[in-house]
Amino acid sequence: MDISIVIPLFNEEESIPELQAWIDRVMTDNGYSYEIIFVNDGSTDRSWDIIENLHKQFSNIKGIKFRRNYGKSPALFCGFEAAEGDVVITMDADLQDSPDEIPELYRMITEDKYDLVSGWKKKRYDPLSKTLPTKLFNATARKISGINNLHDFNCGLKAYRKDVVKNIEVYGEMHRYIPFLAKNAGFNRIGEKVVQHQARKFGSTKFGGWNRFVNGYLDLISLWFLSRFGVKPMHFFGLLGSFMFFIGLISVVIVGATKLYHMHSGMPYRLVTESPYFYLSLTSMILGTQLFMTGFLGELISRNSSERNNYQIEKTI
Ligand code: UDP
Ligand code: MG
Repeated sequence: MDISIVIPLFNEEESIPELQAWIDRVMTDNGYSYEIIFVNDGSTDRSWDIIENLHKQFSNIKGIKFRRNYGKSPALFCGFEAAEGDVVITMDADLQDSPDEIPELYRMITEDKYDLVSGWKKKRYDPLSKTLPTKLFNATARKISGINNLHDFNCGLKAYRKDVVKNIEVYGEMHRYIPFLAKNAGFNRIGEKVVQHQARKFGSTKFGGWNRFVNGYLDLISLWFLSRFGVKPMHFFGLLGSFMFFIGLISVVIVGATKLYHMHSGMPYRLVTESPYFYLSLTSMILGTQLFMTGFLGELISRNSSERNNYQIEKTI
């Protein structure tokens, strides 16, 4: 099989038939053998009925139905597991991504030998409240991941060599950083293609709120941490710990020596603990370090937990 198309969807009933027909047209025109894997991420509308109907008509339409809404990353993860094509293409279900891009994406993987090609919605049809923070977000992601040639990390339209999707684990909300995950897994040939983008035709965005930026940045920091210190946390904590211990030691010596000096030369002196700032700085330093370490340890544990990619799949067709 040449191509697997993985489509995560959450309440996109109006778009599915049109999207399927469009994909089929492009694939038939180009003579590709392909499958479409619709991952229904707990839709509460008629999306699954529509997928089942399509499955009855076309043998290459497959579906995975989550019992509840888990998010885009879990949906992609399960789609990747099921994919059989040599090239795997992901796209959103809302018709914002154009299937006409598929042949060129396919060519870039098979002929130009890219491991991953990410779409770049150079001209984007989304409200400013989405596009502006995204610019900032992409700049940070470029810096932290070291993948300097990508403008649009989170584009839903991407193409992968099969090896890539079988060797990365998209979890939580990490779909925003798949190129970074791929790079960490050792896939270095990451390319980009400018793609057409359309305004949403039906329904509304599932990633609206402000928390997508907060969560997005926290995930990015986690990834950066995991990629740099994931298997050698001591390099980070050891250094930080020694540094703080050293500062503490010096401060204690200064505080003690000053007091001794003052006492010795008969000058007025007071207890160091009489200053409220002493306690404030002490407490916040300790709390800050502990919070930080807790977050990191939690991340490590969740990464190693056997539950981390365990989803309730109600049905597979
Ligand atoms: N999606 C999903 N699960 C979710 C949220 C979104 O499978 O919990 C799907 C959604 O149906 C769409 C894709 O992810 O196919 C991208 O979502 P959306 O178009 O709302 O994001 P935007 O384009 O506004 O960034
Ligand atoms: Mg969309």
